[in-house]
Amino acid sequence: MPLKDIDKRFWKRVKELAKSNMKDTTYDYLIAPAQLISVNGNDAKVLVDSNFHKDYWRRQQDLVNTASLETYGDIINYHLLSKDELSEKDYKELNKLNAASSNDGNVENDEETAPFPFKSNLLKKYTFDNFIEGDQNRMTLAAAMTITDDPGNLYNPLFIFGGSGLGKTHLLHAIGNEFHKKRPRAKIIYTSSEGFVTDYVNASRKKQMDIFVSKYRNLDLLLLDDVQFFSDKEGTKNEFFSTFNELYEKDAQIVLTSDRPPNELDNLEERLVSRFSWGLTTNITMPDFETRMAILMNKAEKSGFIFPDETISYIAGQINSNVRELEGALNQVEFAAKMEKVAVVDTTFAEKALDTMRSSNYRQHKSNLTITKIKDEVARYYHLTVADLTGPKRLKEIAFARQVAMYLIRELLGTSLPAIGNEFGKRDHTTVIYAVRVITDKMKTDNDTQRDIDNLKRKLDS
Ligand code: ADP
Ligand code: MG
Repeated sequence: MPLKDIDKRFWKRVKELAKSNMKDTTYDYLIAPAQLISVNGNDAKVLVDSNFHKDYWRRQQDLVNTASLETYGDIINYHLLSKDELSEKDYKELNKLNAASSNDGNVENDEETAPFPFKSNLLKKYTFDNFIEGDQNRMTLAAAMTITDDPGNLYNPLFIFGGSGLGKTHLLHAIGNEFHKKRPRAKIIYTSSEGFVTDYVNASRKKQMDIFVSKYRNLDLLLLDDVQFFSDKEGTKNEFFSTFNELYEKDAQIVLTSDRPPNELDNLEERLVSRFSWGLTTNITMPDFETRMAILMNKAEKSGFIFPDETISYIAGQINSNVRELEGALNQVEFAAKMEKVAVVDTTFAEKALDTMRSSNYRQHKSNLTITKIKDEVARYYHLTVADLTGPKRLKEIAFARQVAMYLIRELLGTSLPAIGNEFGKRDHTTVIYAVRVITDKMKTDNDTQRDIDNLKRKLDS
């Protein structure tokens, strides 16, 4: 039975009442997307997005009663259905309704196609097209492409791990962009783990958990970056656990990245870590020389300068830490070429440009600022001893203070990574890279860290 005019009036009234009774955001996320499918006698069928939406709608009984008394002079029972509960008949009804409303301008259709109201955060510049394949990322790339064709199935979740600057974030966005291309209406969110945590904390503070839940639990694709930075703020992990389960159960695709494999994620509980391994875990490592050349060539082509092969191979040979630094080196050379108006960048020129970059890393520093002074100040700031900082303890607070100290030494003195490692009980330079990265990232997302660094810099400056 198609909807009669009176049914449409009833539904319009329900939404009007809802709108005047709740916050706009709640209305937009929870009420607006629902659709009236049919009214037969006293029974109405309503399509909602998820079980969560059902719960919310159930609490709107008074409102629906008011609208139905006003319109029909009688109480209507409304039955809430999610998409997979629709019978074939309901489904046909719904299709007819939607077809009618898109063909016929008379039918009110403002709510029917309410778009997903959250930003996907996808960066267009990261695509599969500009991700260079090599032995070290072949399997990851293949899996990443597969899930855009066959999401929520074989590789769910897809867990990508590997060191900093090796293309994990690039791949997440590439998956998102491709997914969006193939399914323009899919609900996609890219977020860092800190982003998720911040969202959660804000939502619970503002008492808007309903919005948070409708944001993350209705997704078709969740791209969660850097799960090693998941902090254990109250409630956050439980929320993530529930989100994960709900998405997984409805075959939404989940992709996670981390700098280490699941079993080394000591910030997360076992039950979550074990879920991470349900799909496919894949590792990306530093590209070999040939792949590095291919990455550089691809970028150099777009630069407007001519880079002979020897120059490319020279740069590829110089940088073997990660792709980000590789790109940084190329940028540095391009910049020098621009400044000196060189059209063809030969090896000698590149060599000189890279040398300048290295030496400028050793910034001019205040003559009285030393490594010892930074260690002292950081230890005092966090109420620890210098021995705590340089010793083997792995307590969270100590490890964090140690990372701050490493970061400040690198930032303020430009000391080399191995030398910094040495200063902290002969730790490996990769530990220092990691520390600098953690603090740099945290400063972007965590006010406390930002404040600590500012305070410490001020103290060290005086
Ligand atoms: P991660 O998230 O692993 O730290 P990113 O994804 O941020 O690393 O990558 C760092 C930079 O290196 C980005 O600019 C990215 O585009 C580039 N990059 C990494 N791997 C590749 C690759 N295989 N091909 C092209 N660019 C790459
Ligand atoms: Mg990243």
